[in-house]
Amino acid sequence: MSVRAGREFLAIPGPTTVPDEVLRAMHRPAVDIYSGPLLALTDGLLKDIARVFHTKGHAYIYISNGHGAWESSLTNVLSRGDKILVLESGRFAIGWGENARRMGVEVEILKGDMRRAVRPADVEARLKADKGNTIKAILVVQIDTASGVVNDIEAIGQAVRAAGHDALLMVDAVASLGCMPFEMDKWGVDVAMSGSQKGLMAPPGLGFVAANDRARAAHKKAGLRTPYWDWTDREGDQHYQKYAGTPPEHLLFGLRQALDLLFEEGLENVFRRHRLLAESVRRAVGTWSEGQAVGFNIVEPNERCDTVTTVLFNNGYDPEALRAYCNKQCGVILGHGIGDLSGKAIRIAHMGHVNAPMMLGTLSVVEMALNALSIPHGKGGAQAAIDYLSQNVKA
Ligand SMILES: *Cc1c(COP(=O)(O)O)cnc(C)c1O
Repeated sequence: MSVRAGREFLAIPGPTTVPDEVLRAMHRPAVDIYSGPLLALTDGLLKDIARVFHTKGHAYIYISNGHGAWESSLTNVLSRGDKILVLESGRFAIGWGENARRMGVEVEILKGDMRRAVRPADVEARLKADKGNTIKAILVVQIDTASGVVNDIEAIGQAVRAAGHDALLMVDAVASLGCMPFEMDKWGVDVAMSGSQKGLMAPPGLGFVAANDRARAAHKKAGLRTPYWDWTDREGDQHYQKYAGTPPEHLLFGLRQALDLLFEEGLENVFRRHRLLAESVRRAVGTWSEGQAVGFNIVEPNERCDTVTTVLFNNGYDPEALRAYCNKQCGVILGHGIGDLSGKAIRIAHMGHVNAPMMLGTLSVVEMALNALSIPHGKGGAQAAIDYLSQNVKA
């Protein structure tokens, strides 16, 4: 028996729900790639991608996912044999660093773990010890989608400056851009990257990179540059050069619509919506955790991010049984644990095109599953989420 028929709720941390307006914007014939409206579309998108990163630097749009944007950011500023420092706080910075290692870059990991944010003081101390400025770049994620942690990029930027170190600060904003503040220039970030399919509410397939003048100076000497990713080629006058070939027209139509939706709502309101919905999820998880079988992966409340909540299962309770119930019986697709948390956690995404009914529906289904599977939990998690939202979303 199932109550699954009806709208499916995709509550995984990417790809996220694509708004109907975005889907409709893509449903149209292809257009000329050498003249006409597509040229202006590209100019507007490059400007607006820089706007969401908050930078006066250059933006680049790739036909790629986040992994491609990772590769772009690395190949454009590094050379074989360079050393970089990866700040661990989950899976994704480590994965980015692994790509660098496979390109012949020497990678040092500043040890962290799956349950805590990067500590800026540790970054400062490590950089101060690097007397000869041998570290060329620092890689960090703003939100780690595996652990559910948010790193304080502003404080990390300050730590780099306090150490008097001139390494490039490179930030992965795949799971955070368009969901929470990102102030590339103000925070001293040199290279930032993201993708289309998470907070930006577009289909998977576009990678974004932004680079400031310091990064573009490093680019001039970078030995790992390759034709497809190369920033200089993409800065050429020809529209064809902007994408190193045929533009991904329909994805660009969709992205335009998605950015328009974000700007119409207002980025401040978008961030506030994410904070409110994330906190409602945390109220529910906090209540359930009274039963000792489930609990937050991220230990410190102020290090829990506003786009995904990773919930650990203890005492042998099986997160996969809960995910299967939510999916097969109720039509709610939750994220699974990845990396060290594989088989030990679920992830509830609250990222992008989400609203109160989607989150309250998802939380209610998780609570229904906890009941149905006899997983011990504090009762009233969904009610705690409702109470929080009703107190904080005013009439
Ligand atoms: C999803 C994600 C990536 C990888 O993006 P893909 O589009 O899957 O290649 C990288 N970093 C973070 C933080 C992510 O959440």
